[in-house]
Amino acid sequence: MRILIAEDDFTSRAMLTATLRKWGFETAAAQDGAEAWRMIRQPGAPKLILLDWNMPEMDGLEVIRRMRAEETEEPPYVILLTSKGEKESLVAGLNSGANDYIVKPYDAEELLARIRVGQRMVEMQTGLAQARRDLAYQAMHDVLTGVYNRRAIMEALNREIARTGRGGGPLAVGVGDIDHFKLVNDRYGHAVGDEILCAIVRRLENGLRAYDLLGRWGGEEFLILAPGCPVEEAYKLFDRLRASISAEPIPTKAGPIPVTISLGVAVGDGSQAGADLFAAADAAVYRAKDEGRNRVCLSVGTGPTDAGAA
Ligand SMILES: [Mg+2]
Repeated sequence: MRILIAEDDFTSRAMLTATLRKWGFETAAAQDGAEAWRMIRQPGAPKLILLDWNMPEMDGLEVIRRMRAEETEEPPYVILLTSKGEKESLVAGLNSGANDYIVKPYDAEELLARIRVGQRMVEMQTGLAQARRDLAYQAMHDVLTGVYNRRAIMEALNREIARTGRGGGPLAVGVGDIDHFKLVNDRYGHAVGDEILCAIVRRLENGLRAYDLLGRWGGEEFLILAPGCPVEEAYKLFDRLRASISAEPIPTKAGPIPVTISLGVAVGDGSQAGADLFAAADAAVYRAKDEGRNRVCLSVGTGPTDAGAA
């Protein structure tokens, strides 16, 4: 753990640095409040700070006030160093947002004990922040394939429609449904089915443009959003995706398995609701199934009709 020592007195600063290093901590040092404030704002700054109260340029309390005014997930833990032993001063220091204080001249064992408390707090806070980020990620992503889950891709659909309505160009919405996937699961088991789902996601990802979005809608159904994609281009894009699935059998632990996908595509201009655009693409995928699978069908009625349909 790295600790920032903000202390204007050269001797105290040198001694604190030597002591902390002896205890196995990494240190950084600032010689006045302004320098401390600059260092605190750097990315990757130490999360534990020994902060002298009386310093030129900016005193410790002002540094704390500025720090506490910042919105951050992981605020630093601050131990205020002070020679002001009077109760009023300590109350003011803690009220300003210090986590702890220690009165100079400090006792080494007490200082170490208080640093350890701070270290535990910082570590706990870091762990919680990571857990929050993990949860936010999990809430948005499909566990098996790692792409957006249903909720996240639906939110993206509504976001992209709003953008389309603001002049972002047509939005192509594709629903992809793996052909005869139930037979694959029945014959080879769900573990192989999962392998196939993951392989298909990788193939779809490889075929998409950088700003296209892919989500798993449900079992073997995917939703693909292609912003700024007019009908003719949409057909080419989705047919390329289709071909990338059928081109080569998918290698699995049960051997290579040929798989195909049917796709339904609707192109919106921002005037349709997300659910309607999805329903239109979904109806088109049923048509693709009816017409023999392993094909792309464009929705009739949203945007120009299916002039390019297979
Ligand atoms: Mg001082």
